[in-house]
This record gives sequence, structure tokens and C-alpha cells, in this order.
Amino acid sequence: MIQHNKKIYHMKNLNRRIINSSPCRRCGTCCKKNSPSLHGIDSELIQSGAIPRNQLITYRKGEWINDNVAGQFIRLEQDIIKPIENKKDGYCTFYIVEDRSCGIYAHRPVECQTQNCYDPEPFIQMYAKNRLTRRDIFPSNSAYYEMIEYHESRCPLSELENIRPFSNMIVSEQAISTFKEMIRFEFHFRYTLHKRTGLQSSEMNFLLGRSVETILNHMQVKL
Ligand code: SF4
Repeated sequence: MIQHNKKIYHMKNLNRRIINSSPCRRCGTCCKKNSPSLHGIDSELIQSGAIPRNQLITYRKGEWINDNVAGQFIRLEQDIIKPIENKKDGYCTFYIVEDRSCGIYAHRPVECQTQNCYDPEPFIQMYAKNRLTRRDIFPSNSAYYEMIEYHESRCPLSELENIRPFSNMIVSEQAISTFKEMIRFEFHFRYTLHKRTGLQSSEMNFLLGRSVETILNHMQVKL
């Protein structure tokens, strides 16, 4: 992973355990491919603000994602939280193109510490284990936790089980009706949340994940 030159985010004093100190060639390959999934040990980066919440996105249980290691689309069995990726080229949001460096190098997530061009095995062994979820971050008696649970109960992604991404599948009338209802609900839910709490859509991407409409568009599912 890329060594840090510029400090662009406010850094807190964290006693981070540095997993891997192998030499980095600063080729940028890891940071350009995608952003890292966060793991349990990374929760302190969010809690401390070293990684701002508005720079994160949640991929929810039931979504299809491209698993780079497996080399195929898989359906998530639990949430994944990641730094957002640049829409244009898919680079990690913390990657600084100009000097090929990481904007949070001192506090980079554990996946970034483990990635090693010369030996991918340690990363392969750890990438799917102990992934961080929203429920690890918000206490179960908090308003945010309740909001997440309520949203999940109204917009579960179980209907995606039989729909492959980019497959041009004909979606059943029942599924179309369910998705349309979810999209209607989400529109009002997110709007009300913003009005009542001031929460911006960038923070909702972390709290609630992408909207159902965005997920379906990304899978190229037509309703
Ligand atoms: S957090 Fe830093 S090291 Fe990790 S992928 Fe992003 S830019 Fe690269």
C-alpha cells in the first residue's frame, strides 16, 4: 500500500497495530483496484473520526458484489463497510493520485496493512474474516441502531436471491411490485431523516447503504 506524503484528514492519536511493514513500491495498484473492506480491528478508526463516516459506504447483507479474490459475483452474507470509491475510476477515496500516496496512511485499515504485492497469501487468508458491520459500531440501544433495524425490516434484500447482476433476467411481477414499494418507502424515509436530523446523503450511504433503486440500477435490473 502507498506510503503517505500529504496529510489531508485530521488524524487522532490511535495506538494502531501495524501488521505489515513490507516495502511498498508505490505503484498504486491496490488503491486503484478498489477500497478495502473494514474489519473489527478498524472500528476505532471510525469511532475516533480518523476515517470520517461520510467517506464510507455500506454494502448490505443480500447485495451482489464482485469478489476480487474469488473472481466472481457473490451475494453478501453480512454487511461490508468500505471507504467510498471514486465514481469515475474506482480508486479508493483516500488515494492521492498526484503523488501516489494514501491520505490516511498512518491510520490505513488492516486490509491495506496486510496487502503485499510479493505475497498475496496473508491477505487471502484474512479478507473475508471478522468483517466490520454497522451493528458493531452502533450500540443496540441507540437511535441509529433502531433506524438501521427499521430500514432493514422495510427494505430487506432477500428478493435479490434469484436475480443475477448484469443478466438481463425477467423479474417477476411480484418482485417488481416489492421493489417499487421499497423505492417509494426509501424516498420518504431518507427525505424525512434528512429533514429531521440534518443527515446528508453521504452519511446515509454508511448508515443505510445504497438505496434500493441504486442497487438495482447498478445490477442493470429493469423494473
Ligand atoms: S486506505 Fe490508503 S492504502 Fe488503503 S486503499 Fe485507500 S489509499 Fe490505498
